[in-house]
Amino acid sequence: MTPTPVFFSLGSNLGQRKLNIRKATELLTQQLGSKMRASSLYETKPWGKSDQPDFINQVVVWNNDTPVHEILNACLEIERAMGRKRIEKWGARIIDLDILYAGSLIIKTDTLTLPHPGIATRRFVLEPLAEIAPDFIHPLLLKTNQQLLDACPDSLPVKKLLQT
Ligand code: ADP
Ligand code: MG
Repeated sequence: MTPTPVFFSLGSNLGQRKLNIRKATELLTQQLGSKMRASSLYETKPWGKSDQPDFINQVVVWNNDTPVHEILNACLEIERAMGRKRIEKWGARIIDLDILYAGSLIIKTDTLTLPHPGIATRRFVLEPLAEIAPDFIHPLLLKTNQQLLDACPDSLPVKKLLQT
């Protein structure tokens, strides 16, 4: 199979947030190889449940041909290894690793939905995504990431950090 761009959203709002993001990226690199590109880091207000610390978010892309269910398992395993506990939906977390797109693959199973259903409504995903891949086209909405960002109704602040 030819490699396709697999985009991930990383988020952390507990402990050493930047370190957690970097650690998760390193662990993903062990699985997916060194050919990756990362957005800046962004500091963002929590989405969905506001009484929790601010997040650091980043989007990272690998060109890869690993089957997506294996990639999802790797994500869940990394979250476990880093000590994430699932307590409540949208609650605080050491690390959250979501797959946003795997090329133009469209899939919906009990455990994996692609493209990730939250992309178009989340500024903390679209800002970093449009930074590294403005022209990539959402395979269901048929709009580019930049177009989705321009039309995004989410008004929660997303601040690009100058240093990583
Ligand atoms: P959320 O990211 O919505 O806050 P979780 O990180 O707790 O929630 O994920 C819950 C489940 O979502 C995972 O166990 C996984 O099976 C499922 N899931 C479905 N689609 C995706 C996707 N595109 N990326 C990551 N997880 C996904
Ligand atoms: Mg998740």
